[in-house]
Amino acid sequence: MTGFPDRAMFEGAAHRVHAEAGASVDVLIVGAGLAGLFLALKLAPRHCLVISPSPLGQAASSAWAQGGLAAALDPLDSPAQHAADTVAAGAGLVDPVIARLIAEDGPARVRDLLALGVPFDRTPEGALALSLEAAHSHPRVARVSGDLAGKAIMDALVAAVQATPSIELIEGARAVSLLQDANGRVAGVVLRDASGHFTPRTARATALCTGGSGGLFKVTTNPREAQGDAIAMAYEAGALLADLEFVQFHPTGIDIGRDPAPLATEALRGEGATLHNADGRAFMADYHPLAELAPRDEVARAIHAERMAGRGAFLDCRKAVGDHFPDHFPTVFGACMSANIDPRRDRIPVAPAAHYHMGGIVSDLWGRSTLAGLSVCGECSSTGAHGANRLASNSLLEAVVFAERISRRLMSATLDAPAASQASIPSALTDQSLLKLREAMSAHCGVVRDAAGLTKLLDLCRQLEAEAPGAPALTAARLVAEGALARAESRGGHFRRDYPDTGKPQRQFIAHPFRERVTP
Ligand SMILES: Cc1cc2nc3c(=O)[nH]c(=O)nc-3n(C[C@H](O)[C@H](O)[C@H](O)COP(=O)(O)OP(=O)(O)OC[C@H]3O[C@@H](n4cnc5c(N)ncnc54)[C@H](O)[C@@H]3O)c2cc1C
Repeated sequence: MTGFPDRAMFEGAAHRVHAEAGASVDVLIVGAGLAGLFLALKLAPRHCLVISPSPLGQAASSAWAQGGLAAALDPLDSPAQHAADTVAAGAGLVDPVIARLIAEDGPARVRDLLALGVPFDRTPEGALALSLEAAHSHPRVARVSGDLAGKAIMDALVAAVQATPSIELIEGARAVSLLQDANGRVAGVVLRDASGHFTPRTARATALCTGGSGGLFKVTTNPREAQGDAIAMAYEAGALLADLEFVQFHPTGIDIGRDPAPLATEALRGEGATLHNADGRAFMADYHPLAELAPRDEVARAIHAERMAGRGAFLDCRKAVGDHFPDHFPTVFGACMSANIDPRRDRIPVAPAAHYHMGGIVSDLWGRSTLAGLSVCGECSSTGAHGANRLASNSLLEAVVFAERISRRLMSATLDAPAASQASIPSALTDQSLLKLREAMSAHCGVVRDAAGLTKLLDLCRQLEAEAPGAPALTAARLVAEGALARAESRGGHFRRDYPDTGKPQRQFIAHPFRERVTP
């Protein structure tokens, strides 16, 4: 861990931070999940600085991934088929070029992960064991020990990062805003450390890899740290954002009062687990012909409806998994047992939970945002790969594919030292206000939305804005709610009770309307 430089000044009263020209690192990587760490490793031996708010490997969705990483690795599969499934899942808004690109690059990136020591499951013959997941037309999800893919991938990456001398690390600090020079070029970030001090860190290139926004919702599967910080920072800096209303709700968060909610992976329904209400009725067939194997958003809405009607929802794995639970799904098993639910004998109470943010900061084919000097990678980006509904196990894939592409671009570029720069310091919500916001997000911007609820949510955002102007969580939540209100149709993860039909497929772009150019 390194200390902070002392050549810059914090003007606490003015809520502005200045940084002199010049940079101490080549590439500043904000976030230490799969996107951030894979990028840092691919950039070696270029000097990178990685910012991790928590001890390395913690508080990243990547480490919690249960299913695995999708790639067309089977000889009977093809990138074209993988891309077609990705386009079909995205409800009309996937960019087919990007779908093809991630599918084409996928197998090579899996080989990279194997080389880094990720112990993907093998068949008795030694080939990679590939699972079939909903909406994939072929088995193509590389997994580790059942539901431990994310942990195994991150363990391997953390070990590799720790053994790479070109990667410097700051733990225990968060980025709060982007430094920009007089021309708007991004020159690094301002960090807030655990004691509340703000310090600028300049870099020749900056990459936002801060993950998703599930933590803006009361019920989520994401780490609490996932509060859409990159969206807020990029918006304030004038970057183009897209499709922020598209949030994927996982149907089966385990409803045991934990925050965040542990996840009961979709693979359980793939194995034959069924959904019942408190009366014991298997209700999915009432909602969709594919019953338990219906698309994620359909299952989430069915569970939501049963719960709203007071009937509750439970996942019954007793027959489908039974005694194999501890071996086949150790993460889910551990989460249930911690709440005295033995899934071999008991039904698991479930509720939909905010899980994945399809929208984000607009990225081109090479991970460039619309701001000079700023790359974006992983869940905080909007590459066009996921449209309105992400295909399961495509997000780990997108993170590694784009990290490699960003590294290839930056490795061959001459990275100029940044000019003098500055940034504003946003305020922060109190814990109580954040909780209020999260409750309102789940209530009004959740699985089922309407204009009345979204308007109420935006009223609350305005109230909180007076209390904590520019708080990143508030900005991100407001942008999601505004996007949801503006999209007067239902599509993919976005369902409007008052506009249940699907309209014309159109992306929805947004940028700060009154963004002022920073003049240091
Ligand atoms: C429970 C669960 C299961 C999942 N299962 C799968 C699966 O099987 N397959 C699949 O493809 N996808 C899955 N996903 C989605 C997938 O895990 C994520 O989309 C992906 O890991 C995102 O990677 P990332 O690097 O962009 O973000 P993350 O892994 O979340 O990393 C973000 C990093 O940024 C840090 N950070 C956040 N804010 C700041 C800030 N302001 N300053 C500095 N750092 C910051 C975080 O602490 C973290 O280190 C799952 C998600 C969850 C939550």
